[in-house]
Amino acid sequence: MRTLLADHPLVTHKLTLLRDAATDTATFRRLADELVTLLAYEATREIRLTDVTVQTPVGAAVGAKLADPMPLIVPVLRAGIGMLDGMTRLLPQAGVGFVGMVRDEESLVASTYANRLPVDLTGREVFVLDPMLATGGTLITVIGMLRDRGAAAVTAICLLAAPEGLTRVDEAFPGDFVRVVTGAVDDRLNDKGYIVPGLGDAGDRLFGEI
Ligand code: URA
Repeated sequence: MRTLLADHPLVTHKLTLLRDAATDTATFRRLADELVTLLAYEATREIRLTDVTVQTPVGAAVGAKLADPMPLIVPVLRAGIGMLDGMTRLLPQAGVGFVGMVRDEESLVASTYANRLPVDLTGREVFVLDPMLATGGTLITVIGMLRDRGAAAVTAICLLAAPEGLTRVDEAFPGDFVRVVTGAVDDRLNDKGYIVPGLGDAGDRLFGEI
């Protein structure tokens, strides 16, 4: 697994506001949306292109456009939905698949409650959206599903990551298949599996407590 820490000053600034317990839901949503756009800029750096020539009013210009098959974006329900608009704004041609994962608060084991992924992902690049890479259990399950369907490469975009989660994902997927792009690597997980200092429950802060 490769990790890219996208610690651009604007990312750090917006992450700091996002972490603040005094930040209200509306502002939290806007910041998450802005952050994913900044992280996506880094995350798409290796996206596959194909050469094209277009005619400008003055002559022929050799350029490039996104190669087929188009990438797939996979927000992990529920919190990943808060990152979807920012990502599709940057990659409007991409398809979108959904995986719903819920974590047992006792065992911290994640289980799948929704799966709307294309059956065949052969040759497709996939961008997984999950704000918090905590224990890594959710991400490992989702990446396994994508690999089993033939995805060419997976990039996970996470606003925050814990060292424990990064290590687990790395152990599960050695090599170049997986890349994690994150705005910060925090100190640790607490005994409830929350990232410390983190920002609390990302789903609750985006959509309210359930
Ligand atoms: N999920 C969250 O929403 N927050 C954490 O800190 C860990 C997992």
